[in-house]
Amino acid sequence: MISVILCAAGKGERAGFSENKVLRELNGLPVLSYSLSAFSAVADEILVACRAEDEARISALLAPFPNARTVIGGAFRTQSVYFALHEAKGDLVLVHDAARPSVTKKIIDDCIACVRKYGSGVCALPATDTTVLVRDGRIVSVPARKDVFAVQTPQGFMRDDLLRAYDRAFEEEREEEFTDDSGVYAAYIAPPHIFRGDRANKKLTYSEDFSPAERVGFGVDTHAFGEGDHIVLGGIRIPHTRGLVAHSDGDVLVHALMDSLLSAAGLRDIGYYFPDTDDRFAGADSMALLAEVMRLVREQGLAPKNVSLSILAQRPRLAPHIEAMRRSLSAALSLPLSAVGIAAGTNEKLGYVGEEKGITCFATVLLEIVRSM
Ligand code: MG
Repeated sequence: MISVILCAAGKGERAGFSENKVLRELNGLPVLSYSLSAFSAVADEILVACRAEDEARISALLAPFPNARTVIGGAFRTQSVYFALHEAKGDLVLVHDAARPSVTKKIIDDCIACVRKYGSGVCALPATDTTVLVRDGRIVSVPARKDVFAVQTPQGFMRDDLLRAYDRAFEEEREEEFTDDSGVYAAYIAPPHIFRGDRANKKLTYSEDFSPAERVGFGVDTHAFGEGDHIVLGGIRIPHTRGLVAHSDGDVLVHALMDSLLSAAGLRDIGYYFPDTDDRFAGADSMALLAEVMRLVREQGLAPKNVSLSILAQRPRLAPHIEAMRRSLSAALSLPLSAVGIAAGTNEKLGYVGEEKGITCFATVLLEIVRSM
């Protein structure tokens, strides 16, 4: 029989939240719900160690999981696990931080297999940075990197062994010393075995861990035809019998793109940054304005991942110019060519586009958060 203890008694202080971070939503679901779902497939019972003030809200989340129940935790992680361990009925116990919602079925299966084989199974990742021991602000020891691992959860043990280790730790009043179960087990039972974890199984600690990693943006622009002998789209000059009426060079494609970028970044629109009442922007090269928009977007710690653009124009025929536009925009956005998609179509002679009165462009962009604010 397998018991799972989910540690959910934190306060979210490091994240700067007024509430327990496992109750916060991540992509539409409370953080705790992810580990409940992941472990419910293998667990005979799930004990959620929580604070008394969170119990009502946590109990509500347990409704879809009939084998899960709450246990009121203590002031320290070790106390919470200890209380839950006393209630656990399984011969095998897995302890997991509820703030690690990305735990996978493979990690859980590997943990159980490791406990069955060696009596213990601690999720660990090889260190990627050099790790050193520091005392009084000075490095006193540099272990070989190949010997250093970062310890995650789940951590699995035979229940009786772990309970014996915890009993000893509490008898000796060392409960505040240990930050996880592997430490308690190592101190009183044996050096625990590790199994390879997954980089994705990280602990949500700071508020930026909860922000979506990507942001979508959408932009539209329309310009009317007027006098002229060419139009400019995506920074490419295209000969035509007419031009586009504009304060700037009338690059309607780049205008839609700029608005999508600004919108995804939560900034104002191009009319705000480049007002057409300002003579500085008379006849402006829209590609130069795009460079300025990219600077604003980067200032927000964001960078485009891909853009998808659509042009509605009855005439001129744009197919021969699409590749040049893609190259021009991929350079301006620092994106590979494959991340810049441009479609062009007529409007079947319908409406202002079909009557060759103007051109409309649509832009969608996906920004990724490269640096948290
Ligand atoms: Mg415009």
